[in-house]
Amino acid sequence: MCAPEPVEPPARPRIVRCPACGGPAVYGPENPYRPFCSARCRQIDLGAWASEQFRLPSREDAPAEAEPPESGKNSGF
Ligand SMILES: [Zn+2]
Repeated sequence: MCAPEPVEPPARPRIVRCPACGGPAVYGPENPYRPFCSARCRQIDLGAWASEQFRLPSREDAPAEAEPPESGKNSGF
């Protein structure tokens, strides 16, 4: 027998990992909170973003220690 069997139909909902809780979330039109699994998870993520934005200006307070300005002249020439 050589009957070509149909592959997996694209009707299957795509399941992605919820970035908030790490659980399975339906990534489709039926899930308005995608890629989150629920409205609560979306709220959690939004809150995290707001918190990070608040921390951003705080980091500017730290002096740039990674790049010392003129730290010892290397006269190799
Ligand atoms: Zn979730």
